[in-house]
Amino acid sequence: MGERTKEEMRNEKESTPETTTESKPKDFIRQIIDEDIRTGRYGGRVHTRFPPEPNGYLHIGHAKSICLNFGIAEEYGGLCNLRFDDTNPLKESEEYVQSIIEDVRWLGFDWGDRLYFASDYFEQLYEFAIQLIKAGKAYVDDLSPEEIRKYRGTLTEPGKESPYRNRSVEENLDLFERMRKGEFPDGSRVLRAKIDMASPNLNMRDPVMYRIIHAPHHRTGDKWCIYPTYDWAHGQCDSIEGITHSICTLEFEDHRPLYDWFLDQLGIHHPRQIEFARLNLSHTVLSKRKLRELVEGGYVNGWDDPRMPTLAGLRRRGYTPEAIRNFCERIGVAKTNSVIDIALLEHCVREDLNKRARRVMAVLRPLRLVIENYPEDLVEEFEIENNPEDPSMGTRKVPFSRVLYIERDDFREDPPKKWFRLAPGREVRLKGAYYVTCVDVVKDENGEIVELRCTYDPESRGGMTPDGRKVRGTLHWVSAAHALDAEVRLYDRLFLKADPDDVDEEGADFKANINPNSLEVLTSCKVEPSLANAKVGDHYQFLRLGYFCVDPDSVDGRLVFNRTVTLRDTWAKIEKRVNAGQTT
Ligand code: ATP
Ligand code: MG
Repeated sequence: MGERTKEEMRNEKESTPETTTESKPKDFIRQIIDEDIRTGRYGGRVHTRFPPEPNGYLHIGHAKSICLNFGIAEEYGGLCNLRFDDTNPLKESEEYVQSIIEDVRWLGFDWGDRLYFASDYFEQLYEFAIQLIKAGKAYVDDLSPEEIRKYRGTLTEPGKESPYRNRSVEENLDLFERMRKGEFPDGSRVLRAKIDMASPNLNMRDPVMYRIIHAPHHRTGDKWCIYPTYDWAHGQCDSIEGITHSICTLEFEDHRPLYDWFLDQLGIHHPRQIEFARLNLSHTVLSKRKLRELVEGGYVNGWDDPRMPTLAGLRRRGYTPEAIRNFCERIGVAKTNSVIDIALLEHCVREDLNKRARRVMAVLRPLRLVIENYPEDLVEEFEIENNPEDPSMGTRKVPFSRVLYIERDDFREDPPKKWFRLAPGREVRLKGAYYVTCVDVVKDENGEIVELRCTYDPESRGGMTPDGRKVRGTLHWVSAAHALDAEVRLYDRLFLKADPDDVDEEGADFKANINPNSLEVLTSCKVEPSLANAKVGDHYQFLRLGYFCVDPDSVDGRLVFNRTVTLRDTWAKIEKRVNAGQTT
């Protein structure tokens, strides 16, 4: 590659997408809304909604939709509803409803008194269906589900009309009412829209509006045994709520003509549907079905397992709402699908925690270090800053004594070149305390190192260099007598491949790519005593080790920490490379 001028490099830097939060041009959705406001469509009103189906916990993909819908409402002085699209009693539950409410609130959004359920509209939807039947636009079909599938045709072949398609309005009304009354078994009949079996759009080939499901619903109990399909319910629910901009993911683009058809036939308020590309994240699956499989198959420890991309999992892992919202803002919205590197998400939480997390010292794999020339019963306290990035976070006192723990990884008996940590005969700085030199190594009968013997230089108090001599390494430490015991859980990516669906073996699925080493539990960690009052959810930076968060498993004073992220910012590296114009 030839020489590039600074000017060229700066231009490249400025044009790098997705890495800055400076005032960006408006995305295509906001441009559409601007235009609707300008033309007076909906009288300048902006009313969005977030419409989850309560069939699982929310994941980071949903966060994108939440930030978009609630964000737009806020920006335009409009409203955003939280509506549960609870039309399938077989897959939905109250547990999921509660978790979703909690997660949206945690992200920092407020729906006021506008918490709605599609199931609240069942009666109205039923009335709408009657209206279509009366207009000759819907009919009861006796074909079996398999037959309906067969009759539907393919992308290249038209479908075939059902022999029941031309029933009279009276017969349809009678049969539909009896479907509702529970006279027929599951799967024996459906209500279908009467549109066009030859339409090039398969969604328009007489889609099913109601199916018979004799199962109690988490909200309506046994009141109904016919349930609206998502396709039938969704657009009408938006209409009932007076939604102006019905924002959804790209896979519903082909459904839009159907939704338009329903609304036009009924002659009711017609929201504008806008589709955007869903979030895909590398090394992650974002589908409630797959996430449920991980939970139910015991591959993870529940929906809030810190390795899960669910909001509950991310929260437990130590992600903050601010970091997630910032991530959603950075990725923006587009019309084409792409995969976002998970390193960007990690970068966002690092950036946020860097500001708010107190720096403390913790030793994950302790190795005893005894300072031979330090007085037996002396305890000194060193004042150490809580966050060098933010002096207003103050300082704390950390006790120091003759017996300490350091990280096992920070000592090598036979160090490689450029080893700046501890080794026999080498001197290092103990963060904020003293210089120590390793004078001896104690081993057990198996040859395992159990203790380091050191001397310290009293002149180096506070970690200051007494005579200008250099030490390259600064190690973290805790005082053995004062340290608290802790468990620390370290996480790696849940999937080995960037695309978990890329499987090598025939018949295998995404589960074949699960990383068997995604969780490492360290049970004999030592943390500095200032953590005695740490509360569940508190964030810390353990010096040199990463950001950590107190897990709810902490009980009776025994602390359990999750590592949120390491300090190594792979995204910043990618960004630097991109800015430097390198492609690999
Ligand atoms: P999943 O495939 O995970 O089950 P879903 O679309 O079936 O997702 P819903 O509960 O229907 O889940 O989704 C609620 C809202 O969140 C919808 O508007 C949907 O478009 C949006 N959404 C779901 N997944 C994503 C994603 N990965 N990126 C952006 N938006 C998403
Ligand atoms: Mg869905």
